[in-house]
Amino acid sequence: MNKYVQEVIEKVKRENPGETEFHNTVKEVLTSIAPVLDKNPQFQKVALLERLVEPERTIMFRVPWIDDKGNVQINKGYRVQFNSAIGPYKGGLRFHPSVNLSIMKFLGFEQIFKNSLTTLPIGGGKGGSDFNPKGKSDTEIMHFCQSFMTELFRHIGQDTDVPAGDIGVGGREIGYLYGQYKRLRNSYEAGVLTGKGLTYGGSLARTEATGYGLLYFTSMYLKDNGMDYKGKTVVISGSGNVATYAIEKAQEFGAKVVACSDSNGYVYDPEGLDLDLVKEIKEVRRGRIKEYAEAKSSATYTEGCKGIWTIKCDIALPCATQQELDLEAAKTLIANGVKLIGEGANMPCTLEAIEYIQANNVLFAPAKAANAGGVATSALEMAQNSMRYSWSFEKVDNKLKDIMCSIYTASKEAAKEYGHEGDLLVGCNIVGFLKVANAMMAQGIV
Ligand code: NDP
Repeated sequence: MNKYVQEVIEKVKRENPGETEFHNTVKEVLTSIAPVLDKNPQFQKVALLERLVEPERTIMFRVPWIDDKGNVQINKGYRVQFNSAIGPYKGGLRFHPSVNLSIMKFLGFEQIFKNSLTTLPIGGGKGGSDFNPKGKSDTEIMHFCQSFMTELFRHIGQDTDVPAGDIGVGGREIGYLYGQYKRLRNSYEAGVLTGKGLTYGGSLARTEATGYGLLYFTSMYLKDNGMDYKGKTVVISGSGNVATYAIEKAQEFGAKVVACSDSNGYVYDPEGLDLDLVKEIKEVRRGRIKEYAEAKSSATYTEGCKGIWTIKCDIALPCATQQELDLEAAKTLIANGVKLIGEGANMPCTLEAIEYIQANNVLFAPAKAANAGGVATSALEMAQNSMRYSWSFEKVDNKLKDIMCSIYTASKEAAKEYGHEGDLLVGCNIVGFLKVANAMMAQGIV
């Protein structure tokens, strides 16, 4: 392997001790772009990789708030502004107890290439907090969001850094965050956050975009290999934003989605999931997925998440969280005849699982490319905010389809050009990297 790449991977491990998730993503990305470095020695002369793996700015802050019982609570807040070579930093906010600096850096680093892949002018960033929204009242969520924004507002702006939602941050949280931002700035800068409600600058189709985009991407991939979704059995993990709209589009494409999950367990419904019921439980009641099996006699509920991958299916779409599909799960899926595994979540498959999937010639749609529809539509929301205008659902959805198509085609072609035909993971990393690298070259040592 390219010596320069190896040195930078080692340096990252040495200088960022304990940040395992960040090490893994740096290793995955840099290893796959090694063929580009072989052909372009000029990147090493300007220490391009060393600069790329170092965030331009990392902000860590205290988030104090008062719960409903009057107790003072303290959480950690983060915003990693990783790379602004091709546009303002852009990436979601995650509220989850597992959030730490390593996870923020892993997600921020991935975001650089994903955003570049969309062909739109957005840099890479990520943020969040170890705040656990589960079980909190609406008032507590609002107080937390207001306190979080009271520090974050000075670091973001529609031309500087544009956060969006992620795990634990949906439409409700974006609303509270936006309200506080507007109050602090005394200015209606709708483009400072994306994923907004439709009444105050949100884009039609943004809610659906990541799940729909995943289905557009994977259906092109299937088509290229002489298959489609019609009549296929699909397993989708999660039951949040990405999973819900992946289920919706898969059903529209004629597939039977038989399982979904939350962080407690999964439901299996051999008759095919009733999506209205899933939405009612997760979006309206904010309940648990086991309530699905309580309401529907054809379904069973199993405690624990990993077992979902033992269900026999043609297509598996992990849409819940990182590292949820390991080597053992990949082996089981493949033994059961899976034909495609498509990543809706960020880094849901472990490195070992990915190696095994690819070695067994199962189609693998990598997250950076396959779930880029969300951030691409966020960039379309920013464009509409700049114009002070809204496009129709069909217009945004058509643009989303075109973007997913161009990501698929560019990744496929780059993989072929650099001697890795059929490997979309290598292809998408190369496409994402080249645009950012060339922009960094043009802008000097900054
Ligand atoms: P949500 O918070 O809406 O949903 C996450 C879902 O995953 C919930 O159903 C949650 O269950 C479940 N979950 C969490 N941890 C686990 C676990 N260990 N095992 C099984 N299920 C689990 O988040 P999103 O749908 O927005 O995000 C899902 C993934 O997609 C994340 O990796 C995110 O980074 C990625 N992504 C999201 C985008 C977007 O536009 N939203 C864009 C691109 C990527 P519970 O209800 O119990 O918490």
